Amino acid sequence: MSSPTFFIRTYGCQMNELDSEFIAGSLVEHGLAPAAGIEDAEVIVLNTCTVREAAERKALGLLGLLARRKRERQPGLVLALCGCVAQAKREALLTQVPELDVVCGTRRLHRLAELVQGVLDGGPRTSDVAEAALPELGLERTQHPSRVKAFVAVMRGCDNYCAYCIVPYVRGREVSRAPGPIVEEVHHLIERGVREVTLLGQNVNAYGRGLEPPIDFAGLLERVAEVPGLARVRFVTSHPKDISPRLIEAIGALRPVCESLHFPVQSGRDTVLERMNRKYTRAQYLDLVERLRKRVPGIALSTDLIVGFPGETDKAFKETVSLVEAVRYDGAFIFKYSPRPGTAAATLDDDVPLEVKQARLQRLLALQDAISLEKNRALVGQRVAVLVEGSSRKNAERFTGRTRGNRIVVFEPCSERVGEIVSAEVLDVTPHTLHGRLTQPAEA
Ligand code: SAM
Ligand code: SF4
Repeated sequence: MSSPTFFIRTYGCQMNELDSEFIAGSLVEHGLAPAAGIEDAEVIVLNTCTVREAAERKALGLLGLLARRKRERQPGLVLALCGCVAQAKREALLTQVPELDVVCGTRRLHRLAELVQGVLDGGPRTSDVAEAALPELGLERTQHPSRVKAFVAVMRGCDNYCAYCIVPYVRGREVSRAPGPIVEEVHHLIERGVREVTLLGQNVNAYGRGLEPPIDFAGLLERVAEVPGLARVRFVTSHPKDISPRLIEAIGALRPVCESLHFPVQSGRDTVLERMNRKYTRAQYLDLVERLRKRVPGIALSTDLIVGFPGETDKAFKETVSLVEAVRYDGAFIFKYSPRPGTAAATLDDDVPLEVKQARLQRLLALQDAISLEKNRALVGQRVAVLVEGSSRKNAERFTGRTRGNRIVVFEPCSERVGEIVSAEVLDVTPHTLHGRLTQPAEA
């Protein structure tokens, strides 16, 4: 008998992408085989996000369509839902969607394949959303889609309770992994040919709290940077309030650590930051930018911004615009505020009309695009060092890679150089991409 086939649809953040790689590996370990596409699959897993309502609606919309497919033409289809929507809505989802077979919480990932197997074996529909800390996940199961880059989770959960954010409720309290297994995982990845790792956590700068012997995130970076063969280390996300002088020093001093930092500001107005419970002021944030640029010249800075948080007046929004103009980020993710049930901000009046949120979003997107374009134009004619990843998703006839500053570079195919750091001359740019031509190898 042939193996049942599976398909995973992933929504949301990089942690979900990594979780899906683990789920894929554990389903294969249980004897399932990847399907060519969602249409062919006998088991479909939706790994969901609930950070904004739109993300949740998308996942539940697809679940509705799949439930219909199961009713009308594929009664044997097994449907599983995991990730943050599963944790937020819990077992009630099984009642709401009678075609759904498995609900698996954010800290029960290691059980998902077993729950699916139970249903395939004729067992009952089931859920597991228990809140005990997630155990160490077996690395050997994780299926890394790229052989050049990989994510490594260093901590899970978040204790910050930003007023708008549902993450602490659905991902639980902050728990750091011990440094030993993290370093061991990086060693294994390098043995498989990986050159770049991105360390993941909701707030990586809080790494180490509660660990014995004591270690902080800068200490972890020192340990990871020593792994032979590792060309580049990145990390996300950094909460501005926890960026320590030791971390700034580590970014400047440790060769594999890329000169690139994502540290979301969310708003440029102090009163809004206070209501968001962000625990820093505009002045403190700008001081941090200055210290980072002084110690790490040329560091690429990126951010997240929320427009239309309750009580965000035109004047408050203008302060966000002026902050973006002052910092001149290399990139920004910009979101319309979306009230999330159970968060502190959900009790505030969502008083900025949708059209105003939309207009503010467009204004910031246009501003950031103009800044990114200007910064990229300054690179035309220069050579940049690029880690070659493989063929471009948008154009199979071109190859792609990134600079240490995380800029995407597109260039001619060079299969033999995948995983190498090469030099490319920048010929043309858009706000989000550099187009170039390979020159000399530039292993660095
Ligand atoms: N832990 C990270 C941090 O502290 O920045 C990121 C977590 S969150 C998944 C990613 C981004 O989504 C946040 O930085 C914020 O800009 C945005 N976000 C979170 N909750 C939101 C909400 N209710 N509405 C709109 N955007 C939101
Ligand atoms: Fe959400 Fe704030 Fe935690 Fe980031 S730091 S996950 S925005 S609560």
